[in-house]
Parts: sequence; structure tokens; C-alpha cells
Amino acid sequence: MPQNSTAFSSVMRFKCPRCREGNLFCNKNVYQFKDFFKMPKECEKCGQDFEPETGFYLGAMYVSYGLTIALNVAIFVVLLIFQCYNLTNFFIVAGIALVVTLPYVFKISRSIWITMMVRYDPNAIKNHEAQH
Ligand SMILES: [Zn+2]
Repeated sequence: MPQNSTAFSSVMRFKCPRCREGNLFCNKNVYQFKDFFKMPKECEKCGQDFEPETGFYLGAMYVSYGLTIALNVAIFVVLLIFQCYNLTNFFIVAGIALVVTLPYVFKISRSIWITMMVRYDPNAIKNHEAQH
């Protein structure tokens, strides 16, 4: 396991939360739409189930909502700082930002959600290999 692998870096690299090595998505590229939604059923390295229960990722919508609000607040503050805030400018910039960041927010939300729910286990891969 890479020594510098933290929960944060595993979230950002869309890695399995348990071993921090296996990939959460079949296609990690957020702006390539082939197999965009496809996730492996379980982690290739440690066997962690990526859909522990039906509708597991519904909770990721809350994460996605929080990220989108944070993005909109940031846009609001930036427009205020550059003294070009008005409702029209805000909706134009926020609308563009929403469309551009949507695929990324979708994947990072799932990554954050499963990392919040699954505990890191440094011996996950070793234990998984021992069982098979
Ligand atoms: Zn794993």
C-alpha cells in the first residue's frame, strides 16, 4: 500500500475506501461518458462490496447537494469580491459551473459517501488473498 494514501487522497482518486487501492469506477475519467455510471460489483483488490445495500448511493445525493451549495457560495463570494454580483451574472456563472462540474460532483459524491460508510483496513488485501 502506498504510504501517503489517506482517506482524502483515496476519495480524490476514486479508490476503494477499505484498501485504498482498488478502483471505485470502471471508467475513472469524469468527462468520458462511456460506462460513466458503471461501478464494479466489488473491489478487485480486497473484495469490498461496492453496493452494500440496495439504494446505497441515494445518500450520495446529500453529499452532492452539499458540494453544489458550497460551489454556489464560492461563486457568490467571488462575484462579490470582483464587484460584479447581480442576479443575472450569478445565474449565468452558476449555471455554467453546474453543468461543467456535474459529472465530477456525481463521482466524487459517491466516493465521499462510501468512504464515510466503510472503514479503512490496512490488512484488507492480505486477508482477502488469504481467503482465496
Ligand atoms: Zn478494496
